[in-house]
Amino acid sequence: MFFRRHRNMTKRRWRLSGKLLIASSVATVIGFSAVCASVMLDMRRSEEELARQTLENLAAGIEADISRNLELYDLSLRAVASNLVMPEIEHVSKEIRHLILFDHAASARHFGAIQVFDADGKLTIDASTLDPLPESRSDEEYFAVHRTNPDIGLFVSKPMLHRGAFSIVLSRRISDAHGGFVGVVAGAIRFSYFHELFERLNLAPDDTITVLRRDRTIIMRKPFDLDVIGKNLATVRSWSADNLKAGGSYAGKGPVDAIPRLYVRRSGDGPLFVVVGKPTEAILRMWRREAIRIGAIMLGLISFVLATTFFLAREISRRASAEDKLEELATTDSLTGLKNRRKFDAEIDTEWRRAARQNTPLALLMIDADHFKAYNDTYGHQAGDQVLVGIAICITDTVRRAGDCAARYGGEEFSVLLPGCAAADALRVAETIRLKVMQWSEGPTVNTVSIGIASLTPAPSMDWSLLLEAADKALYAAKAGGRNRSVVAELPALSLVA
Ligand code: GH3
Ligand code: MG
Ligand code: MG
Repeated sequence: MFFRRHRNMTKRRWRLSGKLLIASSVATVIGFSAVCASVMLDMRRSEEELARQTLENLAAGIEADISRNLELYDLSLRAVASNLVMPEIEHVSKEIRHLILFDHAASARHFGAIQVFDADGKLTIDASTLDPLPESRSDEEYFAVHRTNPDIGLFVSKPMLHRGAFSIVLSRRISDAHGGFVGVVAGAIRFSYFHELFERLNLAPDDTITVLRRDRTIIMRKPFDLDVIGKNLATVRSWSADNLKAGGSYAGKGPVDAIPRLYVRRSGDGPLFVVVGKPTEAILRMWRREAIRIGAIMLGLISFVLATTFFLAREISRRASAEDKLEELATTDSLTGLKNRRKFDAEIDTEWRRAARQNTPLALLMIDADHFKAYNDTYGHQAGDQVLVGIAICITDTVRRAGDCAARYGGEEFSVLLPGCAAADALRVAETIRLKVMQWSEGPTVNTVSIGIASLTPAPSMDWSLLLEAADKALYAAKAGGRNRSVVAELPALSLVA
């Protein structure tokens, strides 16, 4: 049993460690992959966050420039609107009035001349000339809106052709002392302003800057496309007020082209707002390259670890089964395939102690071929070997119960352990073996065996050599009695000895 237990433990340990190796490797691989994936996702998030911040700063810069210019121009419009209704202004000459109204007015390359229209929309004063040509703007939105809506403040028109240049027109209402409508003061900011502003920025080809009016009319867009200018996006879902809030960002397809971008809207309180966009592909390009590189390295490492693990596990199990085979060989008789003497000694020791523990009988058969020397001498050693194999087959054919142990005890002697077997049952088994040997060896020379049987329930103080001696004695008795027979040891006498 010591050997069996030792063998089983060894087998289990090896097999367990094979599986354990695979399990630990797979767990390690999963763990590493999870850490790697989490680091990669973190990197992706920081790339996106960095891009968002950069776009926000860009949008803030553009919005600040536009607001400053709008404010500057608006200040001049306000000044004209308030100075014009001073009663004294009616009594001064055209030149003086010009000086009063426009001397401090903002002038820049992209600002058009400020114009004043009376309540009917007729041009009355023009900053660029003392004698303006007659013209009427009563139908223009930037004029009409003030007539109907006294509280609109500064109005920014849609992009339009104004005095031969593409511009946006800024206008303010002129009210008299009682709030009555007396006209509109208007001025234009040419598109060249936006072009110049955007050209100063270093942008990638698919980056976009969009300047919108509060009602989401596109005032300007880079890349510049005349078809897009003036388009109203109030109904475009992707850029609806819910998706693109002030100070917020939106990732998705833009309203003009289908390129997915990250759009950031600057939160300003001027009449215009700015949205800048960068293609998500460009934001994540570096990250994607890095992810593919690290992913490929990880995949290589994982494949290597798994291949090594499976190779080692297979090697472990191969060695375990080789060890089992060696163990089997070390305990097996090579001629008959029965257990050998060494194994038998271990088995009888174990079964004896088990029988003592459980208070059950243990039977032993000692089987010896009759006149075997003579057989050998007549038919030769090899024929004798065949007979030994035949006897072994007759024994294993009979002894089939789990726990039974049949062994070649030595030379032409065999032993059979039958745990839990009383003498009468053991005798039946012995007789079956004896008759089988006789039947099997029918021929000119019938081979027979003599069998000594002993069965007893061991007491803790007894040694199993007692059982062996008793069976041996019974075997001698069988030989003395004429051979080819089974003799049961005298158990009552044995028990007394015990
Ligand atoms: P008995 O009936 O009294 O047992 O007579 P026996 O001839 O069998 O008695 P003995 O024990 O004197 O002879 C045993 C013989 O068994 C001696 C040997 O030639 C033969 N023998 C022992 N081992 C082997 C073996 O492995 N192969 C063969 N062929 N013969 C063996
Ligand atoms: Mg013998
Ligand atoms: Mg013999």
